[in-house]
Amino acid sequence: LAEDPSFWKDHNVQVLIRVRPLNNTEKVSQGYSRCLRQESAQTLVWLGHPETRFTFDHVACETISQEKLFRVAGFPMVDNCMSGYNSCMFAYGQTGSGKTYTMMGDIGEMSGKLGEQCGITPRIFEYLFTRIREEEDKRKNEKLKYSCKCSFLEIYNEQITDLLEPSSTNLLLREDLKKGVYVENLTEVSVSSVDDILRILLQVKPNAKPSSLSYVAQILQKGRCTRGAANRKMAATHMNTESSRSHSVFTCNIESCWEKDLMKHFRFGRLNLVDLAGSERQKSSGAEGDRLKEAANINKSLSTLGLGELPKGDPLSPMLLYGCGGFECDDG
Ligand code: ADP
Ligand code: MG
Repeated sequence: LAEDPSFWKDHNVQVLIRVRPLNNTEKVSQGYSRCLRQESAQTLVWLGHPETRFTFDHVACETISQEKLFRVAGFPMVDNCMSGYNSCMFAYGQTGSGKTYTMMGDIGEMSGKLGEQCGITPRIFEYLFTRIREEEDKRKNEKLKYSCKCSFLEIYNEQITDLLEPSSTNLLLREDLKKGVYVENLTEVSVSSVDDILRILLQVKPNAKPSSLSYVAQILQKGRCTRGAANRKMAATHMNTESSRSHSVFTCNIESCWEKDLMKHFRFGRLNLVDLAGSERQKSSGAEGDRLKEAANINKSLSTLGLGELPKGDPLSPMLLYGCGGFECDDG
């Protein structure tokens, strides 16, 4: 696994596959055994008939810790964004394959320190704010200042809901020469510490529809992130729980400003962390009416990203995709 940031700089889009370990139900009650073998840092073999080999930029086997996964996939994104590149990470895969575990994990209580089970989102911000403090300190003479603003939205049935203000449903997507593509009237919150991020994740307001469908609403009900046997059972047995039918997008706009050669300089980078709707064949649940429309919308949005549904029973999920772009400008 490439922990060297320069590796990522040379590769704009990366695909990483993370293998979820079998849970107790699968291992003990259902008697399943592993169906994959890791062959190298880039290849996995599916132990079917015939054995099939798949190649990725990275293979993260089932024993990889949340911390190590962050170092491989999250770490380079932070430096990218601080340097003014947009970075985006998608978690893609069937419901129950570990997308939310990977992106959010168990946030736990706000204690100033992230727990072992914490996912990539809080870890990215913990590192981001440390790096920001270091840089600001190093470039005091240039009066370097960063400012970060976050938003959190959900896309369900092609409709955008503001997870930080769920009464705002059906928000509009607009395009602007300066701002690029943006969501109109989306709440943006200034953040300057990892606690601010946890507060956002834990305070997302529940709403009857559609954000109560979201994973975040479960956080509110339980007062903490989903984890443990109860949730595992739910995720494994109800392939089409409602949370799996929406995409959630956590965005952070990172702006920096400094003075050099009597000029003011600005730099912008955007970080998008996306937990996609389940990639399972939506129709196989016998969907009709609204459900069928919903399924069609999920399939449409996944194919827009070039991520069609996986064939039934495909073992290869989830994947993280990674990419960048961005811009910088001088005064005005
Ligand atoms: P998804 O969001 O893809 O539907 P989840 O993230 O909810 O799936 O994962 C389903 C269940 O499996 C959860 O209980 C989660 O804690 C557990 N799980 C997922 N990935 C791992 C992992 N790498 N190690 C341990 N438990 C995991
Ligand atoms: Mg999920």
